[in-house]
Amino acid sequence: MVKECFLLVFSDLDGTLIDHETYTWDDAQEALARLRDMDAGLVLASSKTASEVVAIRTALAQEAWPAIVENGAGLLPPFAADAPASSEYERIRLVLSDMPADLRQHFRGFGDLGTAELCQITGLDTVAAQRAQQRSFSEPGLWFGSKDAKIRFLATLREQGISAQQGGRFLTLSFGRNKADQMRDIIGTYQPRYTVALGDAPNDIAMLEHADFGIIVTNPHGPPLPRLIREDQGRVTRTQVAGPVGWNRALLDLIDRLDLN
Ligand SMILES: [Mg+2]
Repeated sequence: MVKECFLLVFSDLDGTLIDHETYTWDDAQEALARLRDMDAGLVLASSKTASEVVAIRTALAQEAWPAIVENGAGLLPPFAADAPASSEYERIRLVLSDMPADLRQHFRGFGDLGTAELCQITGLDTVAAQRAQQRSFSEPGLWFGSKDAKIRFLATLREQGISAQQGGRFLTLSFGRNKADQMRDIIGTYQPRYTVALGDAPNDIAMLEHADFGIIVTNPHGPPLPRLIREDQGRVTRTQVAGPVGWNRALLDLIDRLDLN
């Protein structure tokens, strides 16, 4: 049975609902409570893995909704404890290991990093970093080479059907599905009256453009997103304040503006 839904909110996590520094969403509690009161759905859409998102989804009491994981490369079904089994991650790692060393050496993926190293880069604790390394569909990493070498690296991946998306921090490799692809499927299933999307990084743009209302959450740690076409029509807006504070204000304002209560 498919849950009925009037308003479905798609939200990125890091730098959007979750504060870049503190890793909490405390400042968004008011809007989260409003969504619960309205019986609106919250679909988490993150570059995180299923095993990372499952704990966050439970803490947010949103288990009844699917979550978009690994940047849209995979889906965590409602109430599931993990994503369905997939060999995509192993296939990406194989393509990387077959690549010429002069290109391969500039990319440090999660599979190349020890857990301690990943903790250092991300600020995650050991358990959280281990969850981040339990991947099924995609490989995030850091690029240390030149722009020119990156172009050749990406072209080599493309020949194997692998594409790359730049998130707030990581370059993520996958077999092509993005957050908006998953979003379209979820909208098709639940047929909400209104959709809202919130995000802070280039990997959120397709989702922001596809929603009825897109909210760009300002992220001072990255370059601002380019101006989106629908900003001129007021369908895409930007928050003044970053992270969960901006998320909270923007969503409350939108709910009031649309008189959705
Ligand atoms: Mg983000």
